[in-house]
Amino acid sequence: MHVLVTGGAGYIGSHTCLSLLESGMDVTVIDNFCNSSPEALQRVQSLTGRSIRVIEADVRDAEALETVFSGPRIDAVIHFAGLKAVGESVAKPMLYYDNNVAGTFTLLQAMQRANVSTLVFSSSATVYGDPAPEHLPLKETAPCGITHSPYATSKWTVERCLADLHAAQPEWRIARLRYFNPVGAHSSGRIGENPSGTPNNLMPFVSQVACGARPKLSIFGDDYPTHDGTGVRDYIHVMDLAEGHVATLKYLASHPQGELLTLNLGTGQGCSVLDVVKTFETASGRPVPYEIVPRRPGDVPAYYADPSQAQKLLHWRATRSLRDMCADTWRWQAANPQGYDHR
Ligand code: NAD
Ligand code: UDP
Repeated sequence: MHVLVTGGAGYIGSHTCLSLLESGMDVTVIDNFCNSSPEALQRVQSLTGRSIRVIEADVRDAEALETVFSGPRIDAVIHFAGLKAVGESVAKPMLYYDNNVAGTFTLLQAMQRANVSTLVFSSSATVYGDPAPEHLPLKETAPCGITHSPYATSKWTVERCLADLHAAQPEWRIARLRYFNPVGAHSSGRIGENPSGTPNNLMPFVSQVACGARPKLSIFGDDYPTHDGTGVRDYIHVMDLAEGHVATLKYLASHPQGELLTLNLGTGQGCSVLDVVKTFETASGRPVPYEIVPRRPGDVPAYYADPSQAQKLLHWRATRSLRDMCADTWRWQAANPQGYDHR
C-alpha cells in the first residue's frame, strides 16, 4: 500500500510514517513545514532504512496536490496537516478555518479527481466539547459539536463534511479518529515532539522543566472534582497512536464496499496533572518544581476515552504505560534539548 501522509513531518505524522514504513507500506509526505522540520523525516528514514518521497507544499495548493496524485499511484491518505494551537485559533479563527477546513476540501477534491477514496482524518477529543461527568468515559456516541474554540469547530466541521460525503458516495472509506492526549516519543529518542516557543501542552512543558530550561511548571488549578484536584486527561503514547493508524488502514482496506468509521484513540485511563509530574520525576530522576495557579479558562475538569470500539474493530489497543510515555519523552528531551534545530 502506498500512503500519502499530509503533515507527515509533524509530531504524530513522523511517528506514523515510521510505523507505516516498518509495516511495509510506501510513504509520500506533503508538508509545508510551518510547524515542523524536514530533519524529522531524515531521521525516520535513517531509523527504518527506507526512503520517503517528500514534497514541500501546502495542502491548500490544488496544483501541488495534482502533481502529487499524478505521480506513483496513491492508495490511501492520512490527513494530519493542520494547525492545532487552541489559543491561537481563538485569536486567528480565519487562519484555522482556512488551513483545517479549506485545506481538507482542497485535498478531498484532489482525491476525487485522482480516484482515491480512502482517507484517515485526524480529529480530536475536543469535538466532545465540555463532557458531562455522566458521559465519562467518552463513547463515540457522546454528544458532540458544542465546541469551545475555532480549532475544535474546524475538526467538528470536517467530521460533519466527511459524513455527508460518505452518505452521498458510500464507496468512500473514511476513518475519523478522535485522538485524546498524544505524548511521548519513539523509544530511540531520535524523533519526538518539537514545540516552537513556550509549549502549551503539559508533557512538553514538564520535560522542559525537568531539563532545567524552565524554572517551574504552573499547574492550572487543584480544586477540580478529581482524585487529587488537578485536571484529568487520557494520555496516549504517540507510538500507540501511530500503530492505531496502521491498524485503521488495514481495517479500511478490508472494507472495499465503503466505510465510515468514527473511533476514539485513547487508553481509557484518566491521569491527573500531579500523576504526570510524579511519574515524570521517577522516570527522569529529575525534580519537576511546580506551583498551583488559577484554572486555565476553558479547561475541562476531566475527560478520558472509552476505547473499546477501536479495540474491537481494529484489534488494536494502547499498550504503553504513563511511565513509558514519561521515560520516552525524557530520552528525546535529554538527547535533543533544542529539538531538531541543533544536533
Ligand atoms: P504538528 O503541528 O506537529 O503537525 C502538523 C504538520 O502539518 C506539521 O508538520 C505542519 O508543518 C503541517 N502543516 C500544517 N498546515 C499545513 C498545510 N496547510 N499544508 C501542509 N502542511 C501543513 O501537529 P501534530 O500534533 O502532529 O497533529 C497532527 C494532527 O492531529 C493535526 O491535525 C492536529 O489537529 C491533530 N491532533 C493533534 C493532537 C495533539 O495533541 N498533538 C490532538 C488531537 C488532534
Ligand atoms: N496543564 C497545566 N499546566 C500547563 C499545561 C497544562 O496544569 O502548563 C494542565 C491542563 O490544565 C490540563 C492538563 O494539564 O488539565 C492537560 O493540558 P494540555 O494542554 O496538555 O491538554 P488539553 O487540556 O488540551 O487536553
